[in-house]
Amino acid sequence: MAKRKINKQQQRRINAQHRQRSRRARDDDNLPDSDALGPEQIGLVIESFGRQVNIEAKDGEVTRCHLRANVENPVAGDRVIWQMGDNTGVIVAVEPRRSLLTRPDFNGQPKSIAANIDQMLIVVAAQPPAYANLIDRYLVAAEAHQLTAVIVRNKSDLPVDDDTLAMLNSYADNGYTVLTASSTDGKGLDALRAQLADATSIFVGQSGVGKSSLVNALLPEANTAVGELSHAADKGRHTTTTARLFHFPDGGDLIDSPGIREFGVQNLDRKSVEQGFREFQPFISQCRFRDCRHESEPDCGLQAALERGDISPVRLQSYRQIVAEIEGQHG
Ligand code: GDP
Ligand code: ZN
Repeated sequence: MAKRKINKQQQRRINAQHRQRSRRARDDDNLPDSDALGPEQIGLVIESFGRQVNIEAKDGEVTRCHLRANVENPVAGDRVIWQMGDNTGVIVAVEPRRSLLTRPDFNGQPKSIAANIDQMLIVVAAQPPAYANLIDRYLVAAEAHQLTAVIVRNKSDLPVDDDTLAMLNSYADNGYTVLTASSTDGKGLDALRAQLADATSIFVGQSGVGKSSLVNALLPEANTAVGELSHAADKGRHTTTTARLFHFPDGGDLIDSPGIREFGVQNLDRKSVEQGFREFQPFISQCRFRDCRHESEPDCGLQAALERGDISPVRLQSYRQIVAEIEGQHG
């Protein structure tokens, strides 16, 4: 067999993995044996600090847990099997996930940030103004992670121009739920609460659209970490703050962090961007070539749909812009 060449970067990564494994094995040596601990039970990860994790038991009690060496780091929203010790617990397994949000770390490798999310609330406002390409990016990310996408037009107490309303209506026409809300006058919050019940949600959107204000209006004061969250964002520590899970009083959970609020289309390929444009799907299947890029190929179903007026030029432009961007990133 030919000897595999390993470059410096790969060698560094392998060394780091070795170090991590031996560190985990050492940490695990300090953990009590399984039969010295309480019975196995299910827990919900509230917040993860790598090898130390805060989990919530069925009774609502939160316990700091360590991980057995063979257990990969869980993230907020994960369901785990754990055992209680004297003061802290031990996580022995992470349950299979129904969804996982990742973002590239500084090596470009996907890093898990939150698990078992069902729904993405895309918050837009009259100020700073909403624009289609940004909404489309979030919709692509939501579709790629199989999340239900909901658009929230926030700050509904402020006047909004007709173009913005028409744009939001076009999303409703394509089957997306569009809600309006204002944390200033409280309008629309009941409908929003109903949308959030029975699901685990994340809030995304541009800075300044009122996400913190909405979260503060929806969560009771006891959830003090919301204050910490906006505080951390002020200091520009965005990516280092870990995701945390909160319960809404009327049902449903929120997973939030400054990083999640900026969640986008990182690490997606062209096919998944394409699938993120819902109303394109029936036309794409009419393209002559399976790998059609919908640019100047003959018999392109999407071009034909555009000419007939069946799809919006704004959405096609948006699709092209996102593809150009991710292909620029990946080389
Ligand atoms: P975030 O960056 O998305 O978290 O936005 P913030 O919650 O920090 O809000 C940004 C600005 O918008 C603040 O000055 C808020 O007072 C204001 N704001 C938030 N919600 C509303 C709203 O419903 N109506 C109005 N008029 N202003 C709002
Ligand atoms: Zn095509």
